[in-house]
Order: sequence, then structure tokens, then C-alpha cells
Amino acid sequence: MIKRYLLAPGPTPVPPEVLLAMARPMIHHRAPEFDKLFAEVRDGLKWLFQTQSDVLMLASSGTGGMEGAVSNFLSPGDKALTVNGGKFGERWGKLCKAFGAQVTELKVEWGRAVDPQAVSDALKKDPAIKAVYVQASETSTGVAHDVQALAKIVKAHGETILVVDAITALGVFDIKTDEWGIDVVVTGSQKALMLPPGLAFVSVSEKAWQLADKAKNTSFYFNFKRERDNQQKNQTAYTPAVSLIIGLQEVLKMLKAEGLSAVFNRQANLAKAMREGMQAAGLALFPKESPSDALTAISAPEGVDGQAIYKNLRTQYGITAAGGQDHLKGKIFRLSHMGYMDRFDVIVAMAATEMVIKGLGHPIKLGSGVAKAQEILMAK
Ligand SMILES: *Cc1c(COP(=O)(O)O)cnc(C)c1O
Repeated sequence: MIKRYLLAPGPTPVPPEVLLAMARPMIHHRAPEFDKLFAEVRDGLKWLFQTQSDVLMLASSGTGGMEGAVSNFLSPGDKALTVNGGKFGERWGKLCKAFGAQVTELKVEWGRAVDPQAVSDALKKDPAIKAVYVQASETSTGVAHDVQALAKIVKAHGETILVVDAITALGVFDIKTDEWGIDVVVTGSQKALMLPPGLAFVSVSEKAWQLADKAKNTSFYFNFKRERDNQQKNQTAYTPAVSLIIGLQEVLKMLKAEGLSAVFNRQANLAKAMREGMQAAGLALFPKESPSDALTAISAPEGVDGQAIYKNLRTQYGITAAGGQDHLKGKIFRLSHMGYMDRFDVIVAMAATEMVIKGLGHPIKLGSGVAKAQEILMAK
């Protein structure tokens, strides 16, 4: 027998109480029970997103929310600025192009965070840019971008909106949607929100709705205005993912019981233990700055194949991690600590990483990273 651990940056483990809630008999989405459930989760999402605006729920993976955040605000020919510091930043560019936008791509070296000044300069250079697209946490590199600083810049730039993919950020670290003035925040169910894949969530500010009013909106299913009008009546335009929404009700209860700042502290502490543990074991972190608290990207030691590390974690020790993408394939491996995670998940990841790397013939002192992680987790 081999016991399995899901430590990949999505999907992430689902708590047993959430799994049980989702096993309840199906209810009809036009029945009063759904109305009550939906009203409760809509409220809870506003709390989680730290916004007074509606948070739309869509039956799709996170990318569906991203797609809607392009198609509802940009008309063909409109100008967009996308920050590309990794795989998901690249996706913003592809999506904008797919909907006919004129895209200026701000390339950021993978492993680095965008310099807010560069966004400010790009906006000054081209005042016609209608929307800026960025990740709060770029999962492919493990880097967090400073969306608070970006919000300040975009806010000062007339009608331009800031759209943030917070799929591995919301519920991990603080994102003050209204206070910072982020117009659109997108997340998905299967990362920090401890649910199976299948739901996307999007908050939309008043300023963004004004832009949506002017946009052509070429998409049918991801029609935010239609969804808003339905969801304000506790309905959805099409059949919702009812079981996932029942699971979400449970997740929101758990998060509320813990409290937002306690959640962020727990996540930050786990991230710190993972990062410092890896470094104490002699491994280097891939991010050159601003590491995300959602996951840790670690550079494979010289002469060791990063793909072998992540594969051996699975085959030898039952741990699902992730490798690197594109030019980072073989160069890095990634371990998640977001969502339903606690201290011993970090210890498991740390111990197994040491064992795998030693097993691959690289000198590493067993227990060195574990000891460091233990110190941090005890000091909490
Ligand atoms: C996972 C992820 C996505 C894509 O979400 P899907 O649910 O796979 O569509 C987008 N952005 C970031 C930052 C992610 O981590």
C-alpha cells in the first residue's frame, strides 16, 4: 500500500466535512432550498473577496472566469495590457487575442515580479488601454505580483480597469478588493478554496460594469450582465454546479470559523516553513523575489532532473507535486501549501523531498530541512 498526498498547486485536498456535504442528495436549482443556499454563499463570497460588489459564480474551471473577464469588458480592437511573468500571464495574452483585442504584453522574467513602474509607464505611453490583466500569484513560477501597487496606478488612470487572476491568491493572502480598488478578481474552486474543480468566481466593480455596458460582449455562456441579473435574484442563468455550491457553503463556514486573518497567518507560516526548510536542506528557491505563499517553486540542484524529483515523489512516496512548465521543465519542481493544509503537510513534503533528492544521488543531509521547518512551525 502507498498512502497518497495531494500537494500539487491545484487541485488541492478537499476537507472531509466538505466531501460529506457534497454527498447530500441533489436539490433542484429552481426550488426554494437553492435560493436560500445561494443567498448564503453569495454573502460569504463578498466577505471572502472583501467587496460589496456581487461575486458571480460560474460553472467552469478558473479559465472560464478569466475568459469572461476578457469577453465582457473588451470589444474587438480594444487595447489591453497583459503582464506575462509565466504560463498564466501568457494565458491572459492569448485570451485577449482570441477576443480580438490589441494586446501590449509586458514581459517579466520568469521568477520575478512585475515592476509597478513598468505598468505605469505602459499606461502613460498608451492612454487608450482599457484594461490591465495580471496574476496576484503566478502559479507557474511561484511568484506574487504586487497587485495593491498596481491597483493604485490603474485607479489613477481614468476608466482603465485592473483585472486580477487571484486563483492561487484569494484565501491564501490578503487581497482587499474594494479598499485597494481592484476592479475584477477571478478565482476558481480547486486551489485555495478547498473544493473539487468546476466553479469560477468573479467579482466586478462598478467601474468595470460601466466598461461592460460599452463592450460588445461576444460570448454567450459567460455573459456577466445576464448572470448578475439572475444571481441578484439568487438564481443562475443556466444550471449551476449545485453540489459544488453546497460544498462551498461548508468551505465558507470553515473559513469564517477560522477568520480571514488567521487563515492568512496559517498560510504564511506554512509557506515560511517550506521555504526556509528547503533552503536549510541546501536547495534554492526559484523565485528571485516576492515568493507566493500559495506554493513553493524549488530549483532542481545542479545535475538533478527536476522532472525526476517530481516523478519520484509520486512513485516512491505517493506525493503528487508538480514539475516545471515550458523552459522550466526539468529545472524546477513545485509543492503547494494552499487550502486545506496544516503543519504536517509541510513536514511530509519536506521529508519526502530530502529522501527523493538523496535517492537521486545528490548529497543532502536528511532531516536538515525538516528540522528547520519544525522550528518555524513550533514558534508559531
Ligand atoms: C490554476 C490556475 C489557472 C487556471 O485554472 P483552471 O481551473 O485550470 O482553468 C489560472 N490562473 C492561475 C494563476 C492558476 O493557478
